[in-house]
Amino acid sequence: MNAAAGSLAPYAAQESRSRGRVHPELPPTMRGEFQRDRDRIIHSAAFRRLEYKTQVFINHEGDLYRTRLTHSLEVAQIARSAARALALSEDLTEAIALAHDLGHTPFGHAGQDALNHVMADFGGFEHNLQSLRVVDELEEKYAAFNGLNLCFETREGILKHCRRNVAARLGALGLRFLQGGQPSLEAQLTNLADEIAYNNHDIDDGLRAELISIEQLRPLPLFGEVYNEVTGRYPGLNERRLIHEIIRRMINQLVGDLVNTSLDRLREFAPADIDAVRELREPIIAFSPEMRAANLSLKRFLHEHLYRHARVRRVTEHAKQIVNELFIAYRHEPTWLPADARVKLERAGDETARARVVADYIAGMTDRFAYAEHTRIHGGSHV
Ligand code: MG
Repeated sequence: MNAAAGSLAPYAAQESRSRGRVHPELPPTMRGEFQRDRDRIIHSAAFRRLEYKTQVFINHEGDLYRTRLTHSLEVAQIARSAARALALSEDLTEAIALAHDLGHTPFGHAGQDALNHVMADFGGFEHNLQSLRVVDELEEKYAAFNGLNLCFETREGILKHCRRNVAARLGALGLRFLQGGQPSLEAQLTNLADEIAYNNHDIDDGLRAELISIEQLRPLPLFGEVYNEVTGRYPGLNERRLIHEIIRRMINQLVGDLVNTSLDRLREFAPADIDAVRELREPIIAFSPEMRAANLSLKRFLHEHLYRHARVRRVTEHAKQIVNELFIAYRHEPTWLPADARVKLERAGDETARARVVADYIAGMTDRFAYAEHTRIHGGSHV
């Protein structure tokens, strides 16, 4: 079983007390249950496709920008470091981190918004629920069941961000997870590791793309302090190294604050086990109030200056149109779909189920495949 199990804190997710898998399986022999989940995720088709899915910058804009895959690896790195410091399950944390974005559409949030819009009459589209759908239903790898048959705790962690009202609107799929208060500490941790990762790497990518500048960032609390520290110690440092020194120090400070604040809160709330964690009214894993404010100011800055930048918006508006037109084309002319999707369409009971088949197919696409499909159906070129 899990070699590190003895060193886990009592409030960590313990494999021996897992709520298990939907389809019972023999226990693994040389690894733990959460390791097995992590390994199944890495071997999934959806995981491989993350390489060619947009984080913020569309894949063809440059080879150095983050993709969904490198983002997921960075989230896993940050979350695992903190999990070890908090004596939580590193294996579960890693599994959740690597799976957390499996349900993302091509073209990042623009793709999700477009798919949610065209699916409005059929239950909508939400990427966290879609991540769960990928691991529960859509991966076709096993003879005995659909999906990857992951442990409850991994699936609970994948749904971590999905707000209760969104889940209720999107149907019963996620509801059984959302009855209680909080997910595991491993899920709470991955959620904040996701924020640390994307805030910092989006600053890095935004600077590299010259859509934002160091001068604009200097007034922000965390960035400004770290900037002064680095330039004081290394005057005249070239810009690439300066940015890297700032980013790595910001990540260190955020992770350090997260671990220390969470340790204080663990002492304060003193949950006896994972069920006590689930019953709490608020998450335990948290930043200090000052760091939460600094993090929020980074987030707001990125919303205002990067995600809504004219150059990013031009690309995302085009991406929305692609997703929109693909959906309409497949709905009106199912012969554009591949044979296996057409079989699912024939088996679908009603229009809602038929629309979901098309949404699943589009959601699974990489950016470049979506462009290629659009060209095949409508002509033109996109790059
Ligand atoms: Mg993410």
